[in-house]
Amino acid sequence: MFLLQKISLKLRLSLLFGLIFTGMLSGFCYILYTQFSKIQIAEFDTSLYNYAVDVAESLDIDKFGDVEFDSNILKLNEKILPFTLKNSFISVLDINGHIIETRPHLHESQFSPLTENVVARVLKQGASFSTMVFEKTPHRVINYLLPVLHKDTPLILQISVPETDFLIINRNLIKFFYISVPVMLFISLLIGYFFVRRALSPMMEIINKTKIIEVSNLEERVPVPQSKDEIWQLADTINHLLSRLDETFSAQERFIQDASHQLKTPLTIMKGELEVFKSEKRSEVETNAMIESVSQEVNFLIKLTNNLLILARVDSGTISLTFSPNRLDEIVISQVSRLSKLAVMKNISLQINFDSFYNATEEELTIMCDRDLAGVLFYNLIENAIKYSPEHSTVEVVGIHKPGSLVVTVSDEGDGIECDSLEKIFERFYRLQRTATKAQGSGLGLAICKVVADSLNAKIWAEKNVGRGSKFYFEINNQKLS
Ligand code: ADP
Repeated sequence: MFLLQKISLKLRLSLLFGLIFTGMLSGFCYILYTQFSKIQIAEFDTSLYNYAVDVAESLDIDKFGDVEFDSNILKLNEKILPFTLKNSFISVLDINGHIIETRPHLHESQFSPLTENVVARVLKQGASFSTMVFEKTPHRVINYLLPVLHKDTPLILQISVPETDFLIINRNLIKFFYISVPVMLFISLLIGYFFVRRALSPMMEIINKTKIIEVSNLEERVPVPQSKDEIWQLADTINHLLSRLDETFSAQERFIQDASHQLKTPLTIMKGELEVFKSEKRSEVETNAMIESVSQEVNFLIKLTNNLLILARVDSGTISLTFSPNRLDEIVISQVSRLSKLAVMKNISLQINFDSFYNATEEELTIMCDRDLAGVLFYNLIENAIKYSPEHSTVEVVGIHKPGSLVVTVSDEGDGIECDSLEKIFERFYRLQRTATKAQGSGLGLAICKVVADSLNAKIWAEKNVGRGSKFYFEINNQKLS
């Protein structure tokens, strides 16, 4: 077993193929041989029986039970027999096994003993066959019930003929099998190895190609065979895996570049401010302005760092999230109250409409989520709506209870989002040129909303609001609490 694990798949499959083929061939030869032997013995026995009939007819038995043999008995007519008469023995015995006459003259050991069984069979069936070794040569023996009986006790004609010819044929046949089976094993191994090698050659190409693919050349793909078999599936799967890895690595690279750029900008601004402050003497007003500016950049850095941490936390998988049952309306309301101050500062009317939720049961309003992260999702949506809306406008948060799902929409009366950017705004660091100048931001808020929604198996998307502004949708299935 250990040795089998060490040899190559090609060799293992060829061996398996060879062994199965040879096993089947051996089985076939064995059946062929036994069937052939049976037929041969049956034919041999028929000839021996016919010969016994001829001999019996040629015998002259007088009324005292004395037997006279025909002098030509061991030459016999023109019949073709499957045995030689040269080494044959003919004798007439009574049922007690006493010899009455023999040709040629035989001694005791050259008779097949007439056991009770043999006599019973001869009396019942007229003849019986057996095999016996005389002078190291196997002989076929027939005990034949003589038809003419002048005495009370029946007489039995016993003829023994050598099986030489018959054995030679069998021996040759076995010899042929002994030689042909290993030869066939060897040939089947060679053929098997050839076919297995051919069949596995695309796999070797895939292995060789996979070996040279690294992070630096992730865009390369393994060769795909033309026939759509299992190897094609393997190559296709590896290529899909490579595509996913390539995308992930590229996204990660882009993320690192964007993140470092985002981190560098406020740091450079702060450094510039401090340099200027250090080189010249400043008035109190200028000092306060500078402190205000640096403090804004620090706040921005804190927010950016928090966002990056949230993304890293969600990206690392659900393991680091703590899911628990929470009421969706409570999560949303708590974020609305956190942001109400910001709305007041911008003279924006922040309205909540949860009428539809009042029809839902406590269980229907409960979702499994990480409460903090779900809070961040709604905070970002409502904050954006306030951030990108003009003063004295309205931001509305609506809860809709649908059969099997809960929907929360956040709509505003801002400048809205162009159709071709509606999906892109959920990408990391993506910001609309138009709005970027109006409000400070890093382009991570909606990306966080997207990963949080994905972790909840929820959907999030944006639409152009009917009339003015934009509308963000969050939809979660609330059928199962697991
Ligand atoms: P940030 O607000 O920090 O720039 P977000 O990921 O939250 O990053 O938003 C990405 C971009 O999508 C924003 O820069 C803005 O251009 C656009 N956006 C998001 N929400 C709105 C909104 N309610 N109205 C108009 N534009 C929006």
